[in-house]
Amino acid sequence: MYQVMSPKAEEFISHEEIMESLAYAGQNKGNRELIGQIIEKAKLRKGLSHREAAVLLDCELEDKNQEIYALAEQIKKDFYGNRIVMFAPLYLSNYCINGCEYCPYHLKNKHIARKKLTQEDIVKEVAALQDMGHKRLALEAGEDPVNNPIEYILECIQTIYGIKHKNGAIRRVNVNIAATTVENYRKLKEAGIGTYILFQETYDKKSYEKLHPTGPKHDYAYHTEAMDRAMDGGIDDVGLGVLFGLNNYRYDFTGILMHAEHLEAYKGVGPHTISVPRLRRADDIDPDVFDNGISDEMFAKIVACIRIAVPYTGMIVSTRESKACREKVLHLGVSQISGASKTSVGGYAEPEEEEDNSAQFDVSDNRTLDEVVKWLMELGYVPSFCTACYREGRTGDRFMSLLKSGQIVNCCHPNALMTLKEYLEDYASEDTKKVGEALIEKELDVVTNPKVRGKVEEYLANIHKGERDFRF
Ligand code: SAM
Repeated sequence: MYQVMSPKAEEFISHEEIMESLAYAGQNKGNRELIGQIIEKAKLRKGLSHREAAVLLDCELEDKNQEIYALAEQIKKDFYGNRIVMFAPLYLSNYCINGCEYCPYHLKNKHIARKKLTQEDIVKEVAALQDMGHKRLALEAGEDPVNNPIEYILECIQTIYGIKHKNGAIRRVNVNIAATTVENYRKLKEAGIGTYILFQETYDKKSYEKLHPTGPKHDYAYHTEAMDRAMDGGIDDVGLGVLFGLNNYRYDFTGILMHAEHLEAYKGVGPHTISVPRLRRADDIDPDVFDNGISDEMFAKIVACIRIAVPYTGMIVSTRESKACREKVLHLGVSQISGASKTSVGGYAEPEEEEDNSAQFDVSDNRTLDEVVKWLMELGYVPSFCTACYREGRTGDRFMSLLKSGQIVNCCHPNALMTLKEYLEDYASEDTKKVGEALIEKELDVVTNPKVRGKVEEYLANIHKGERDFRF
């Protein structure tokens, strides 16, 4: 039975409720009146239920689909402005004892090079990331209690926060590691992590169990209830995701929204982010074997429908997607992207030779961070290296209330401009710097509060003189 407040995975992600929602969505995909009503409700910017969102995802009325895209674009503008937050993944270790059928780290893969960074390696990797201009990382590791115990992850976090290299610093470390205990989540919180990210891969229990035949990740309930445990351990920013391509996209779209509703109802705060990764080719993995791949058009529709269903949740698109595809979805609701990512262990300091492959998957966007930053600015976006909210304690519901108050233009926008200015001063090419300086000048007009604007101008001048790390 479906119960949003239940602590049990199979009750807050109810298979029957998903199947009924999908049947309802299918029956109403041409129901002009109902679709119109749902779009009107979405315009209130308070979100939609999973069932309502499923109807919009299925909608086959062309004019209504255009309304959905236009609304997603408007909500993205109103809530997140034209800022895009930048980050990079850092792969710590690809040792793994799980049997995930889609992931090259799976235990039976004997030809992938197994690697684990030492603390000295981490210093080199982070220096390379800082030399590009990154300030925010997402740590990635396989699940292996012997090779990658929680103590190892904690030590890595401590090392990373401690590295001061030229003008650089990693100011926010997010963590994407396997589901774990409340006690371990508490340790991660104490180590100062930003968001705890864990992808569900698929919400369909049967398919989940088939895709994870062996290892601790096989346990559907333990994995699905992980975010509740993370919140019990004091982490209030959690990031959800499904791996599109593994299972029916309609099922997983509905499931992820049910998960968001559960966190909001049961824990008082919804997910901080939703990621929308798509399955990629990798060592020992052929994505065509999984016949649930989605087209770029459906991918864009999923992004738009998530945007209007959960306006307060950030959305992340990684370098799994190509430049062209990222360009297509940015304006529909994406708030964070990765840039210049390497999915190999140690790949930032020393690019890998082909026969030494430790990568998790092939990336589609291979551009440098400088190229990505320039491209974003030319498209009218402000690349942001901001980490202020988390460092000022604006996490969980405190972050959500800032978003809801509309004060973001006088807080996030100045922070974005100041961190972009740091990037331009310290890392940008001459061409990128020119584009960026002109953009900052223009974007200052968005800061409406005269007092704040005066301060930003003062801080920007100080950054030019060599001072760093101003924030609101
Ligand atoms: N080991 C941790 C876990 O089990 O959740 C998390 C780290 S794993 C490095 C990060 C994510 O990469 C996985 O959750 C999965 O969704 C994604 N991934 C795995 N194989 C992939 C592939 N072939 N293409 C795209 N993404 C993949």
